[in-house]
Amino acid sequence: MEIIPKIIVAIDGYSSCGKSTMAKALAKTIGYLYIDSGAMYRAVGLFCMNQGLVIENQIDLVRLKKILPTLRIEFNPNGNGELDTYLNGANIEKSIRTLEVAHVASQISTIPFVRETMVKLQQQLGILKGVVMDGRDIGTDVFPHAELKIFVTASPEIRAERRFQEMKTSGDTITYEEVLANVKERDERDTSRAASPLRKAKDALILDNSHLSIEEQLTWLLNAYQDTIKKSQLTYQGTPKDNCH
Ligand code: C5P
Repeated sequence: MEIIPKIIVAIDGYSSCGKSTMAKALAKTIGYLYIDSGAMYRAVGLFCMNQGLVIENQIDLVRLKKILPTLRIEFNPNGNGELDTYLNGANIEKSIRTLEVAHVASQISTIPFVRETMVKLQQQLGILKGVVMDGRDIGTDVFPHAELKIFVTASPEIRAERRFQEMKTSGDTITYEEVLANVKERDERDTSRAASPLRKAKDALILDNSHLSIEEQLTWLLNAYQDTIKKSQLTYQGTPKDNCH
């Protein structure tokens, strides 16, 4: 029987570039767990909003630092083969998908002690491998040794249009201009923050999906995955001693 090694697939890239859609589709196809690291920052953002820790667009760092270790962020199956995000036992999957939460999550994600806590949690979730995780720093900080790293890009206008259509479909009354402004603001913050800014890992493959359909992206990802598996199998067969501890 052929043994297929389990790997970690790290998918990073800008906001609203369709990372989660492709990561979910890949995970489903190869039987891996999909973990949305952005949902964790959104969960902390929602918590801050609900607990009055956002005051005049500023986060109360003293209170957040005290409370953060007590927060329980978990992912539980929702019956549709996907995971929903839970905060302290409550399903928050829907409430974390608003622009307001995205805005606070983006602010929260610049705080070093929050990043430290989130990264530790993400590393625990990937300990057994067999995981597709998407975010901004997965290939650079969370899993710098991930076997497959992908960096996704697309123009801000294309990303805003996709996100706008998605939000319109789910009944949101937002305008395209508001979505574009949010995308640009988050790009700026993601790339310029001091703590783990968004950047391409040296060994990441670039996927510009501006003009690719979801099916084309999945085909591209599956090829990249299969190439990586072949390489891991070759490495294993070729140098068995290297794999002994
Ligand atoms: O991916 P998503 O838009 O849901 O992420 C919410 C926010 O969390 C983003 O604005 C981004 O700044 C931040 N984030 C991050 N690092 C990650 C995932 C998300 O800083 N690994």
